Amino acid sequence: MSVLIYAEHRDQKFNKAVYELVSLGYRLANELNTQAIAFTSGDIADDELKSLGRFGCKTILHTSANVYDDEKQLAETISAAALENNAKVVLMPHSFRGRAVAPRIAVRLKASLAQSINGYPASVQPMVVNKRAFSGKALVKENLDGDISVITLTPNTFGLHENAVGAVVQALPDNAGAPATRVLQQEVQKGKILLSEADIVVSGGRGMRSADNWQPLEELADILGAATACSRPVSDEGWRPHHEHVGQTGKVVSPSLYFALGISGAIQHLAGISGSKVIVAVNKDPEAPIFTVADYGIVGDLQSVLPRLNEAFRKHKSGN
Ligand SMILES: Cc1cc2nc3c(=O)[nH]c(=O)nc-3n(C[C@H](O)[C@H](O)[C@H](O)COP(=O)(O)OP(=O)(O)OC[C@H]3O[C@@H](n4cnc5c(N)ncnc54)[C@H](O)[C@@H]3O)c2cc1C
Repeated sequence: MSVLIYAEHRDQKFNKAVYELVSLGYRLANELNTQAIAFTSGDIADDELKSLGRFGCKTILHTSANVYDDEKQLAETISAAALENNAKVVLMPHSFRGRAVAPRIAVRLKASLAQSINGYPASVQPMVVNKRAFSGKALVKENLDGDISVITLTPNTFGLHENAVGAVVQALPDNAGAPATRVLQQEVQKGKILLSEADIVVSGGRGMRSADNWQPLEELADILGAATACSRPVSDEGWRPHHEHVGQTGKVVSPSLYFALGISGAIQHLAGISGSKVIVAVNKDPEAPIFTVADYGIVGDLQSVLPRLNEAFRKHKSGN
């Protein structure tokens, strides 16, 4: 028996969401009296593979085959590793790739599927997980019947828990064959904090008025070490790139702190932020729906509030 964790990597590095997944896998494996095994593929250094041991993973299965680009091949390879290791739980990150591949694995393994669970399951035997439903308006407990559970974890809902063990890398044969899909070119966002991993997110809506007004918002993000985000109309207008769009049709984030600046708080936007621990809203309309979900609210015009927030945070940071 085992808990199998799919450890995806970008630029040959694991991200925080993967270490969080391993932390969860380790705790689940302990409760099931079994071991946490990670699976990964493609070009990645041995030291990086072994870094998964910091969070409790003793065995790392690695195939040099690059099956990541082809969702069908990736699902086949992970399913084969799950069967080989008698996995009772397959853990996937709730990334674009994770959420696309998890259902394929569930079908292959005839397993129960739960996407985007929040934190540690309410019960492990039987498996009962916590999730958000109805665009984040409700919390549900979902019972996973069946022998095997395939689960994707919402980032930042379990946290990082170190349990250092010596990890051993086991090389798997490359028998994946030629992929049906190959990515020819990709441009990776560099030098910025990734939105999906950020602990603080500073997000702007139509209340920012135009693409030219983003400098003070970016300044706030810089001061706080935060990622920038936006509402959908803002990215539709081309004021900000689409990868920053948060909500039902965009990214789902669950940072410790979410700033909603000039965002009305439509249900489709809230669907992407309801996992945030603290929400701070700035809006000139005291009746804006965002204030019903905000923990702290400032009623005022962004053009005057934002520079004052920046000044206050800058002073606080420098200790003056
Ligand atoms: C199927 C579907 C899917 C959707 N998916 C998404 C999604 O994923 N994400 C998403 O965000 N939206 C989504 N939407 C759109 C959503 O319904 C809202 O239209 C959108 O979230 C509103 O964006 P906003 O809050 O930036 O703009 P608005 O609703 O126009 O709000 C702007 C706010 O800024 C305030 N404001 C204006 N000027 C200032 C100022 N100077 N200072 C302070 N405050 C100011 C206003 O009072 C207002 O509250 C979706 C809609 C549909 C139908």
